[in-house]
Amino acid sequence: MTTTTDTHCPYCSLQCGMRLAGATAGSAAGAAAVPVAAPSVEVLERPEFPVNRGALCGKGQNAAALLSPATRLTAPLVRDRREGRRGELRAASWEEALERVADGLAAIRAEHGADAVGVFGGGGLTNEKAYQLGKFARVALGTANIDYNGRFCMSSAAAANRIAFGIDRGLPFPLEDIPRTDCLILVGGNPAETMPPALRYFRELRENGGTLIVVDPRRTRTAEQADLHLQPLPGSDLALALGLLHLIVADGMVDVDFVAERTTGFEDARAAAMAHWPERVERLTGVPAAQLRQAAQLFGRARTGMVLTARGPEQQSKGTDTVGAWINLCLASGKAGRPYSGYGCLTGQGNGQGGREHGQKADQLPGYRSIEDPAARAHVAGVWGVDPDALPRSGRSAYELLDSLGRPGPDGVRALLLMGSNPVVSAPRAAHIAARLASLDLLVVSDLVLSETAQLADVVLPSAQWAEETGTMTNLEGRVILRQRAVDAPTGVRGDLWLLRELAERLGVKHGTGAKPRFDDDPETVFEELRRASAGGQADYAGISYDRIRAEDGVFWPCPAEDHPGTPRLFLDAFATPDGRARFAPVTHRPAAEEPDADYPLYLTTGRVLAQYQSGAQTRRVGALNAAAPGPFVELHPLLARRLKVAEGDALVVTSRRGRAVAPARLTDTIRQDTVFMPFHWGGAGRANTLTNPALDPTSKMPEFKVCAVRVEAAGRTETAERGTQPQQVGASAAGGTAGRGKA
Ligand code: SF4
Repeated sequence: MTTTTDTHCPYCSLQCGMRLAGATAGSAAGAAAVPVAAPSVEVLERPEFPVNRGALCGKGQNAAALLSPATRLTAPLVRDRREGRRGELRAASWEEALERVADGLAAIRAEHGADAVGVFGGGGLTNEKAYQLGKFARVALGTANIDYNGRFCMSSAAAANRIAFGIDRGLPFPLEDIPRTDCLILVGGNPAETMPPALRYFRELRENGGTLIVVDPRRTRTAEQADLHLQPLPGSDLALALGLLHLIVADGMVDVDFVAERTTGFEDARAAAMAHWPERVERLTGVPAAQLRQAAQLFGRARTGMVLTARGPEQQSKGTDTVGAWINLCLASGKAGRPYSGYGCLTGQGNGQGGREHGQKADQLPGYRSIEDPAARAHVAGVWGVDPDALPRSGRSAYELLDSLGRPGPDGVRALLLMGSNPVVSAPRAAHIAARLASLDLLVVSDLVLSETAQLADVVLPSAQWAEETGTMTNLEGRVILRQRAVDAPTGVRGDLWLLRELAERLGVKHGTGAKPRFDDDPETVFEELRRASAGGQADYAGISYDRIRAEDGVFWPCPAEDHPGTPRLFLDAFATPDGRARFAPVTHRPAAEEPDADYPLYLTTGRVLAQYQSGAQTRRVGALNAAAPGPFVELHPLLARRLKVAEGDALVVTSRRGRAVAPARLTDTIRQDTVFMPFHWGGAGRANTLTNPALDPTSKMPEFKVCAVRVEAAGRTETAERGTQPQQVGASAAGGTAGRGKA
């Protein structure tokens, strides 16, 4: 008899519901896998799950391919070092690998101090793994230096949310509210390619008579469906939002009663906006003043309205201020804290939301508590069975942590445990980060596949994934859902919770006895502990259980008690600030950290394509997806191509102050003539992140992935243009742009 299991997609933050048929799971979750043949699993629709109602994009439809042992690591790998020279990775037993990791971490900690050991997590880890990884760093290793790749994804929106509303949840309303708003501005997001099933909410909005405005330097598939498309220069979204607020004020569209009763700080925000009149904003953004006026009227006169941002405005060195400016627009026009109105962030990674709530971030403890707050430290230490004074303080943010790897001296991190992330492809200034990773005394990577980062490791640990293990995720709406185990992991693969348990024991942390720190490997047991640790915090999961999630198709946090219904809609009565009022941000325009000049005359912006996901470590190993999107490219306008004397398919060299990348030209008139676009899913010569700028937002510490200055030339004509640059990454050929594909 064919078994079926209800679960969710392994990829993005929509966490589409799906049903797996042909499941083979039999052994206890988190335990060593039993030997099985490659599972024959079919992905089926699950129409009753409300978020996607059965719809899946190509990534979800082809997700079963990830379960094939042919694409997977199935044994630990270790690299020997002799007289300072690094050998090749070789297969090893789990016992040898675990001893090597535990001994290495302990030795570095003893010689250089606990903070010389770093931990780097991922926004794709389940809540249970993210929670346990944070606890492992603080309790088993005692290090302050833990952060995760979600810092690269949503942290500017998170920071702006906390400043304005006192709490960070990607969407303060469920997706089902979108079709019922009157006007929606989508800034720097392309759900038609990143999460296609979500597009129906925007379609329904327009079918209901609502207006969709899209802000994007490219006329994307999403922008093509808009009533109005504003096409600003990369990095100028802040000026655009200030210009719209200027018009809301100048044209008498401020909701005076709402501002007086439910907000603070309007006067400073208004004063800043008044310096951004339409013609000035046109010069700063390239958006015609007439379009600005049209957008302001559409949004300002609408009875209800929403602003949603994605990585476009957030991945900037002023991302927090930029999101703050868009929130100001909502507040001034009375479009927040009311039904069918508000600001929200379209989270990217599968557990980008939950992954930032329970302790993976350098400055946070579970439940969204601050690690610097004495009461928060006492509460979490009580759950963990440790002395609050023994908990480390805040550590370094993701890029700062990666940048410190291998550096000599007291601030250097000498060993790194990395779980579920591939920074060799996904970090800004990636060639530099690869060099820092390679300089470590000990790099340990837990992953499903031999990613580009795992290829640099001293120890690689093959981990279970998605349908091979049970765990909760929190989608972009703040809905906690349950991914259920459906198949056994390939022989030789172990779960990350088991790994942390084994390492904790080898590092001298006892578990399983009384009030001492425990490192369980059963996900539901870990979730029960997470519930206690989060209780009373902002992201309160105390009332959420696996049984409730199964019965209710997800539960929205905060949910402080088992008889609490959960909170699909935030702020309807009050905002989560001490006085219950939302706070305007007094922000003003400033340029990107790096603007085009004579040497680097074009903007580069980066993003995703439909068939690939993030660093591509998974999707590049799925045949159907790889066939649809086989490699990197440089998208540019035909008029720019004519100026550069290049044609469709020509190999282009794109050079920034960080290095250069090589990829074929793809011509389209949907992009600005002063801007080129590269997707960031590939390593090797076509790696977009070789070029990107690690300039950090001062509040969120998010790097400026979305805008930097580049020069573009046809390959073969570059030598004469090399003056004054010191490229760090020189590709052997354009074909090398897919390096890493299929290397597992
Ligand atoms: Fe998976 Fe996201 Fe596609 Fe849904 S939209 S199937 S969650 S990748």
